[in-house]
Order: sequence, then structure tokens, then C-alpha cells
Amino acid sequence: MKVFDYMMEHDYEQVMLCTDKEIGLKAVIAIHDTTLGPALGGCRMWPYASEEEAILDALRLGRAMTYKNAAAGLDLGGGKATIIGDPTKDKTEALMRSFGRFVETLGGRYITTEDVGMTVKDMEYIRTETEHVTALPLTLGGSGDPAKLTAVGIFEAMKVCARESWGGESLQGKTIALQGLGKVATHLLPHLQKAGAKVVACDVRTELVQARKKEYGVETVPQDKIYDVPCDIFSPCALGAILNDNTIPRLKCRAVVGSANNQLAEDRHAQVLQDRGILYAPDFIANAGGVINISFELTGYDPEAALSKVMEIGPTLQRVLDRAKTQKITTARAADLLAEERIQSVRKIRGMYFE
Ligand code: NAD
Repeated sequence: MKVFDYMMEHDYEQVMLCTDKEIGLKAVIAIHDTTLGPALGGCRMWPYASEEEAILDALRLGRAMTYKNAAAGLDLGGGKATIIGDPTKDKTEALMRSFGRFVETLGGRYITTEDVGMTVKDMEYIRTETEHVTALPLTLGGSGDPAKLTAVGIFEAMKVCARESWGGESLQGKTIALQGLGKVATHLLPHLQKAGAKVVACDVRTELVQARKKEYGVETVPQDKIYDVPCDIFSPCALGAILNDNTIPRLKCRAVVGSANNQLAEDRHAQVLQDRGILYAPDFIANAGGVINISFELTGYDPEAALSKVMEIGPTLQRVLDRAKTQKITTARAADLLAEERIQSVRKIRGMYFE
């Protein structure tokens, strides 16, 4: 992989490789764009098969954060960090603090937060070394688990897609095929239940499937059957790249609205969905609730203000859908344009962000 070529092709600002021999830290911090403000994005700990994979993941995810933060109207840029290692075996207090020291060296250009393989407790360790960390527990003035407000945003996006598809935002009697029963999906279930929707779900973890079945009475299917479920909305809340050449022809839904990041395997799959008459709620518009909530930690967490900003996801998505129709482009392209135009307009008045 030619890192500089990749960075120049996609307009990255900076990549930092961090090592701490004594502690065993190997981390990557990728800052994509700080035009709108400091780069905010999570740190992912994963047993990457190669260093190249860890760098590419940080780069790809960091750029996605630029788009998400810009489209959500936040005064934040995009970045992401990756730590090479198995979070269940290799994580220690020292490792987290060592990573925190590297974050500190960036002087606020990058603000870290939770992602796959990281917990609120890890954020507490990082906090001992840097103040440029969010998703702290409520007791430390943080905003707690972001999944709750991510689910609120997904539910709002579903209502917008329902209005677009059936003329009313009610989900009463509609069937939702839910892929994944993790944190976001678990917070989404009570909203769907209250709205009178029927849920057909799956997860690879049988204990979660059993628990949600018992708690919410959801119907369940084996994980590989979820794409074939006749439904009104398909809701990917597990993995990325699940909208691809193999799965899109199988979908039997009118809309796709879910929390997973990078749902489209390739950009062209937005057009494939549109050609099949399936309305796609761009992932980074629909799933911004968590980062919106976290962003309020930076100014002193106010749950009401955070919720009210998360409720803007509905109107933002509506603007994206309207623009896609008017300009005869995909909803994914319309979402990209919303983010790119905001960044470009602000770039005219400001250079890079320094604290
Ligand atoms: P999570 O890890 O709690 O839940 C994901 C669930 O998906 C797990 O229970 C896992 O067992 C299941 N899963 C994995 N592979 C599967 C498969 N092939 N089929 C069915 N289920 C499978 O994660 P989460 O926090 O609920 O996030 C869900 C998705 O939303 C992720 O892609 C995440 O990146 C994205 N996201 C989360 C947030 C947030 O606030 N947590 C915000 C934005 C985006």
C-alpha cells in the first residue's frame, strides 16, 4: 500500500504511527480533515492481520468521520485511531495510558472516543493522560453510552423513510428485519415495539438472540437468512459492507435504514439499490446520533440539548432524499455532497485547526 498516494488521493492531513516497546503499543492515528474543527473519531482495538490493514482501517474510518460530523452540522473534523491487538487479551491500563499520551501530543487536533473493542473504562484510563477524550461515564461529566442516542436517530430516520415510502411516518404493522442485536439494536427495540412494528431479527450470538426474544418477543431467523425476510425496512445494525452484489438482489424491502458504518460494499451499490426501487438512508446521516451526543461533552454535557440536536437527523435526511430526487442522483451521493459543500465553504475562510 502506498500510504502517501492514498492520503493525497483522498485529501488526508496527517497519519501518526505510535509505538511503545515496553508496553507493546502499536497504534495508528489518522486525521482526515480539520477544516470544521478538531478531528473527532473513535479508537478501534482489533487483532489486525497486518500493519497495513490497521493503517488502512484508520484512514478509511477517519474519512467517514469527516463526512458524518460535517453532515450532522457539528463543528468537528474527522479522524480515527486503531490499536493492533486483541482487546480481550492484550488490553492493559498501561496500554490505554500510553495511547492517551500519544493523543495528548497532538494538542487537541484529534479527540478520541470509544469504538469496537474499547469501553468506557478504557476512556477513563486515557483520560489520565489527556483531556482530548470523550464518551466518559456520566459520573465523570461524560455522556455515557452513545448507542442510546444512535438508536433514537435510526428511529427518526425510519420514520422519514416510512413517510417517503408509504405517505405517513407510522411504523404500525410494518415489518423490520434487524441484522444484529447488539447495543444499538437493543436500544432501538423499545422504540419499534412502542410504534407497533413487527421485528424479525438475527445475531451470531445465541445468548443475545434468546435474551431479546424473551424480552421483546422478536421473531428470529438464522443469520444468513436475514436478507431473504419479506419486510418493509431492512435494518443493518451489525457489520459494514453488507449491501453488495450478493445481498442486494435478495432484499425484499422498501427501505434500508440501519446503524452499521460503511454499509455499501462499494459506492456503486447505492445505484444498484436505487435501481431495485429500494430507498437507502445513507448510513452516516442516520447513525450520527452517537457522535452528536458525544460532541456535547466538549461543551459540558447537556442531555436535552444533545437530544434536540439528534432529532435534527430526521430533517437532514429529508433534505438529502429531496435533493437526490431533484438532482436525479443516489441518496448516498446527495449525502456526500451535503458534507463536501459544507467543508468546502468553510475551507474558504479557515486553514487547518490548531488549538
Ligand atoms: P455491538 O457490537 O454491540 O453489536 C453488533 C452485533 O452484531 C453483535 O451483537 C454481533 O454479535 C452482531 N453480529 C456480528 N456479525 C453478525 C452477523 N453476520 N449477523 C448478525 N449479527 C452479527 O455494536 P453496536 O454498538 O450495536 O453497533 C452496531 C453497528 O452500528 C456497528 O457497525 C457500529 O460500528 C455502528 N455504529 C454504532 C454506534 C454506537 O453508538 N454504538 C454509532 C454509529 C455506528
